[in-house]
Amino acid sequence: MDSILAVALLLAALGVVLMVLSSHGRSTRGLGPGRTVALDDRTLYSERLQLVGRPDRIVREGDTLIPEEWKSSRRASDAQRLQLGTYFILIEEEYGARPPHGVIVLGDGSRVVVENTEGLRSKVLAAADAVRRHRRTIREAIPVRQPAAKCRACGRRDACTRANL
Ligand code: SF4
Repeated sequence: MDSILAVALLLAALGVVLMVLSSHGRSTRGLGPGRTVALDDRTLYSERLQLVGRPDRIVREGDTLIPEEWKSSRRASDAQRLQLGTYFILIEEEYGARPPHGVIVLGDGSRVVVENTEGLRSKVLAAADAVRRHRRTIREAIPVRQPAAKCRACGRRDACTRANL
């Protein structure tokens, strides 16, 4: 009986050690706590804003969903913050709940928390608007005006609608 108790205690102790090691391994790789609900396998779209994004990881923390983006860099850049800002909007559109923050996991495993502020949201929407305007004009002809001498010597001038004669 004593030996059964000793084995049970040993297994319990081993379980605790494995849990601690597992948690340590996760944190050294930059993985935070929380249940993973998407691991680079969920593309989010907003037809309304014409935005698209695929977070590296989405984690459930309580009632909220937190996007994580893993980068090999040593510092978080403004572009990476904008990327997270895009995910905030897409997650809100898709799941109906606004993430309070997101995380950029750097190459050394450190975690940079990015707050979901109105300022960041405005920057993302302004950038998305600029892209949309650019897309609208991309099919329009680029106005060109060649020098008159060049057009006069051009063999296509009779058929050209932009000839400078
Ligand atoms: S005539 Fe038309 S095609 Fe020819 S050089 Fe001028 S703009 Fe260009």
